[in-house]
Amino acid sequence: MSFQNIKGQDKTLELLKEYIKKDNLQGGYLFTGPEGVGKKITAKETAKVINCMEVAFDACDTCISCKKINKGTHPDVHIFEEEDSEIKIEYIRQLKKEMWLKPYEAKKKVFIIDNSHRLNYSSSSALLKILEEPSSDTLIILVSSKPSLLFRTIVSRCKTLKFSAFKRAELEGILKNDYQLDDARAHFLAYFSEGRLGFALRLKEANIFKKRDETIDKFCFFSGRRPQDLFAENKEEAAVSLNILVSWFRDIYMIKAGLPQQELINLDRAQDLLKTMNRFSYLQLNEILNTVSSSALYLEQNINLKLLFSNLWKTLSL
Ligand SMILES: [Zn+2]
Repeated sequence: MSFQNIKGQDKTLELLKEYIKKDNLQGGYLFTGPEGVGKKITAKETAKVINCMEVAFDACDTCISCKKINKGTHPDVHIFEEEDSEIKIEYIRQLKKEMWLKPYEAKKKVFIIDNSHRLNYSSSSALLKILEEPSSDTLIILVSSKPSLLFRTIVSRCKTLKFSAFKRAELEGILKNDYQLDDARAHFLAYFSEGRLGFALRLKEANIFKKRDETIDKFCFFSGRRPQDLFAENKEEAAVSLNILVSWFRDIYMIKAGLPQQELINLDRAQDLLKTMNRFSYLQLNEILNTVSSSALYLEQNINLKLLFSNLWKTLSL
């Protein structure tokens, strides 16, 4: 993997390469953009590029430095990933301590803080001080899909690089040509992921197609199942189910409104959508979409899953 393998971020990568050539990256950088468009991979590749022992301004993937970064064992490259809880001040204190040590073997130490919008008040204040006086042999990359939650002063101390999603039809082509997906799967993944390649590939790995069909069949083609059969095991699973349901009812809305079928997310199930569309009025579809979308918000607030799915069941049984 090197910069050449990161797809759809040409302008951003050009800018990044310019920064690398000009000042060899110092202090703080902020990589922003939607989830699943390659921010974190690019941050990791940046660590490789500035430390590669074989090629300039790119990564060879074969030298010791590249190999160690790929394996996550490089002593000077630290990736902090916190999915759910806040980033505590202890981590920032540790970062500060290590920042002032000489690199063990790298040309430059790299700290990547993923989901950096999870910094709490005290860790943000501590990080701000670090960014105000960075060490010259340290690079700090903040990665965030919600930069508006970061301290403004942190954002203004960093050089921001924006990452974006593909156009959906464009991603569909990439999934067909570069990942050998058939038409139906490539279309579904490109549209369901809203053009986000990394997210689309993760969904493919998680066998989203099977999950999609199961969820739609369970929720939308009632076949004597009881609400308790529908409960998700955990929050992640529930989130996927809710997104699938949003895609399905959004499609029914679209098909009912006579929009082009090519814009459907679940295009391969257009026949089922056509069969179902007269079962719902626009008003009912609005109510369903509101309930499913607000359920997704409640999920983030750790609502009881059983309760959430019972409510959903009631709304879908309109
Ligand atoms: Zn290398």
